[in-house]
Amino acid sequence: MDLSSLKQQLAAKGYKMTRPRRVILEALARKPGWVTAKDLHKEVCNHSGHIDFSTVCRNLDTLTGMEILCRVDRDNNGIFAYCLREMEEHHHHLICRCCGKTSPMDFCPLSQLSLVQTEGYSELECRFEVYGICHDCQAKQGN
Ligand SMILES: [Zn+2]
Ligand SMILES: [Zn+2]
Ligand SMILES: [Zn+2]
Repeated sequence: MDLSSLKQQLAAKGYKMTRPRRVILEALARKPGWVTAKDLHKEVCNHSGHIDFSTVCRNLDTLTGMEILCRVDRDNNGIFAYCLREMEEHHHHLICRCCGKTSPMDFCPLSQLSLVQTEGYSELECRFEVYGICHDCQAKQGN
């Protein structure tokens, strides 16, 4: 994922590439895979100079809302991890609770709900994660 295409994506959604957004996206591009806000903050500060932790958190939320990043509760402990979005479509994740391997799933429970069930609500957001033990981890446990 290169920064100029991310910049285009932001522009297409009507957002600017501000400095915090740029350094956060650069850090995510350098560190492929999932990273927590705390680790990302450390990486950004080491590499691009000091930036407030709250600024990092706020921008991670915004970039997630813009569908530039994915966010999952990877360890099922209430701490979110982020990565550059793996696929364009709205999706959810299947997560191995042993090794943390995270795979996108093109399924959304929200689309299965009838309108009656969500009647009167706007700006619906769905958080849905499936946890299990991946094939590799099962094989390791077996011997
Ligand atoms: Zn994803
Ligand atoms: Zn695993
Ligand atoms: Zn969904």
